[in-house]
Amino acid sequence: MTPANDPDRYDLDALRESLLDERGGEVDDSIPALADADPDLCAIALALPDGTVRSSTDADVAFSIQSAVKPFLFALALLDTGGEALDRVGIEPTGESFDAIKLESGTGRPPNPMVNAGALLTAALVDGEGPTARSARIARGLAAFAGRELDVDEDVAHDEHLLGDRNHALAHLMRAEDTLAVSADDAVAVYARACATLVDAATLAVMGATLALGGVNPRTGERVVPEAVARDVVSVMATCGVYDGSGRWMRAVGVPAKSSVSGSLVLSTPGRLGAAAVSPPLDEQGTSVRGRLASEVLSRDLHLHSFAV
Ligand code: GLU
Repeated sequence: MTPANDPDRYDLDALRESLLDERGGEVDDSIPALADADPDLCAIALALPDGTVRSSTDADVAFSIQSAVKPFLFALALLDTGGEALDRVGIEPTGESFDAIKLESGTGRPPNPMVNAGALLTAALVDGEGPTARSARIARGLAAFAGRELDVDEDVAHDEHLLGDRNHALAHLMRAEDTLAVSADDAVAVYARACATLVDAATLAVMGATLALGGVNPRTGERVVPEAVARDVVSVMATCGVYDGSGRWMRAVGVPAKSSVSGSLVLSTPGRLGAAAVSPPLDEQGTSVRGRLASEVLSRDLHLHSFAV
């Protein structure tokens, strides 16, 4: 292997530099804390099976995890319900935006855990009596995936709880369909707090690696979820992780991933590595423009595409 295709020696800063002139996309402005994000932030990180984390400039800059938390909420819900979560939420791609006001026809279940309806439900399925206990359970679970304690941006949590009208609408719709057992307001509060969890690119890469490596955190050695849970989560990231851009993503990048409105992407290459690519300006599907380009280049150079022979 040469440095150009070896994850241990790959020049992440050179890749980052090559992306800085890309000016496409818009920073999400759904809440003030996200609208203030620095559009020039750009970070890439890799987490490898031996626990090594390799990162570019900016990989220690904190941002709220937003929808990149959804695979981990799904994992915790599968763990805490002994797999019953799979009966409560679908696993089919929607071809629609992340916050579409739509449930699975016939069952009233959310279509999949990677869109907002699904994540509102998985966040409600984790262990804990009441919203404070469930948020604490989620914080413990996310810390195990990350290998360190994670703070919450209280302003983001507050604003998303208060201003997330579509999330409130989805939660009420699930109440009406009898698919959500907790109150709509509790569900939104817990989900908003999970989205407001602060990570950086290096940490997000470790979280992605924990899923990619069958549920064992490569830095701490802790088994966070059983292998079957990790496999289920990564499978659904592959089919639904980039919302209505999931098909194009799989063709171009070929790595199971989850996008988010804060401009982060978490990638899990089964058996190989976890990665994060972060930059706030988003395309029309809510995917980071520079993050996507970085992922395409990494996939090509490090031979990560699932279907490349
Ligand atoms: N917290 C965001 C929302 O619910 C997450 C959406 C995303 O990151 O795609 O609107």
